Amino acid sequence: MPRPEDSPWAVSVAQVASRAGQSKSVDAVFPAPSGIGDDIVGIKEGTDVHVVGSFDSIVDGLVFTGRISAPVSTECTRCLKPINRDWTVDVTAFFPYDAPNGNDARNGKGEVDIIAGEDESEDVYPLSGDGAFADLEALIRDTLAESLPLQPLCREDCRGLCPQCGADLNEDPDHHHEVVDDRFAALAALKAQLEAKE
Ligand SMILES: [Zn+2]
Ligand SMILES: [Zn+2]
Repeated sequence: MPRPEDSPWAVSVAQVASRAGQSKSVDAVFPAPSGIGDDIVGIKEGTDVHVVGSFDSIVDGLVFTGRISAPVSTECTRCLKPINRDWTVDVTAFFPYDAPNGNDARNGKGEVDIIAGEDESEDVYPLSGDGAFADLEALIRDTLAESLPLQPLCREDCRGLCPQCGADLNEDPDHHHEVVDDRFAALAALKAQLEAKE
């Protein structure tokens, strides 16, 4: 079984977990866990994820408050232009002392579901290694996955593409087509014929 401290997302919190009222700051880069978003809007596994914040010990656990940022690659849902920008999310999470051991929880015993619960106001994660480590993998994955834009736009007022020819309407706002409906074309031809006979 892998040791908790071998996880690339493990943060040692043993010092602050000993008593309430202590704080440990975090300013580190972690590899993006797998499973954040999809090919269209997502963060590639292994991408640098910057985590800045602090663990503060309270009576029954550690509260992490901080900011997670990672580069997101996607494309505008209207004009299909590639978008590359840093995605930053503020996060607050709770690592209770009385949670089941992190490894047990990951073995599928289901206990973590109870602890992580349906309480959306605060994310709760188990400590690992008998409380000596806070593993940020699930926190990073959940926080980024939940906040990714479903319909990313290159800019709020993107005009998109011409539905007829695909021209980028941002570059050519006056772009339009003459009526191309075949029925109108046929009528126009008929009208021309009739007019020619007069
Ligand atoms: Zn766009
Ligand atoms: Zn067009």
